[in-house]
Amino acid sequence: MIYLDAAATTASRREVLEAMWPYFTAEFGNPSSQHELGEAAASALADARARVARWWEVRASEVIFTSGGTEGDNLAIKGIALANPRGRHLVTSAIEHEAVLESVAFLERVHGFEVSVVPVGPDGVVDVDALESALRPDTTLVTIMLANNEVGTVQPIARISALAHEHAIPVHTDAVQAAGTLDVRPHELGVDAMTISGHKLGTPKGIGALWVRGRVGLEPLLHGGGQERGHRSGTENVAGAVGLATAVELVDLPAAAQLADRRDTFIAEVLAIVPGAVLTGSRDRRLPGNASFCFPGTSGESILLELGRRGIVCSAGSACAVGRDEPSHVLIALGIDPAVAQTAVRFSMDAATSAADLHEAAVRLAEAAGVVQALGSLPHP
Ligand code: PLP
Repeated sequence: MIYLDAAATTASRREVLEAMWPYFTAEFGNPSSQHELGEAAASALADARARVARWWEVRASEVIFTSGGTEGDNLAIKGIALANPRGRHLVTSAIEHEAVLESVAFLERVHGFEVSVVPVGPDGVVDVDALESALRPDTTLVTIMLANNEVGTVQPIARISALAHEHAIPVHTDAVQAAGTLDVRPHELGVDAMTISGHKLGTPKGIGALWVRGRVGLEPLLHGGGQERGHRSGTENVAGAVGLATAVELVDLPAAAQLADRRDTFIAEVLAIVPGAVLTGSRDRRLPGNASFCFPGTSGESILLELGRRGIVCSAGSACAVGRDEPSHVLIALGIDPAVAQTAVRFSMDAATSAADLHEAAVRLAEAAGVVQALGSLPHP
């Protein structure tokens, strides 16, 4: 099998699992316990926090371990919006992940916030002028993803942060897709809060981290024993935190740059050998591991099936949207016709994906698209 669905999730890395193992077994203590085992767990947790903070180049006291990207986005958006009495207006983009869009919708529905949804261009890049015009004296938060999960477009977050900061508005970015292949140091990007998720980086599912700049207020979502400096109650996932610290230290940005070269070769090959294939998203502002296409006149689901039969595993748009019949909100926001959006297929890779695998995938894709096109052109009985 050739796995080209790294944007959905990655296999856990051996180094990560080995680092986690002791905290499931001999060192299984609860960090809040006042005995030796508890103290060992607390110290492992503190060490994991310090390592994630070092990688992010932020203060350890500003790192909150979460269960993953969805929780991080929810906590950042609801937490900042509810803690900061500036106003009741939020700014986001039309192509955010559901974890962001639904958090914002919740604040609108339950807490009476107003939301400005900024459009993107055909390449998926946020319209920065529209964003600037959307900022208001009562804007409480701007939340824009660093890189999109379906089409891989990388947003000009540093520019967006600078604009928002002219009005003293905090900025959150969902860096779940970006963290393995791009520089996500928050101070370089100028943001005030950032979400990452471990299972996109080689940890098991169920661990992530949220960084929130110290002076930005944050209302907790989970109330209880006051863990994570009161920001997130609940007994900590010590093994997960150790795994996440190990995974972020294994992030290799030079390897990601080489992946972008292999990805470009793959895109060129697909466009050359699959008749009618259209690349979605931006050519240059793109995650190194993303190649997403539409194949007008076919069906994304049918191509997936044919690819699956040929040992190629990928996804139709985003994994999270699977099971829904509507075309992806991301592709619609890019101005793609809804019927064409139903023909989307996303290939996503990580540093382990080889050039040979990508070539094989391109050849199989041409076959799969050919079969689906031929079936589609048969007269209906
Ligand atoms: N944000 C983005 C951009 C994602 O791609 C995902 C998952 O695919 C999430 C958030 C949610 O992360 P998690 O699966 O860790 O809850």
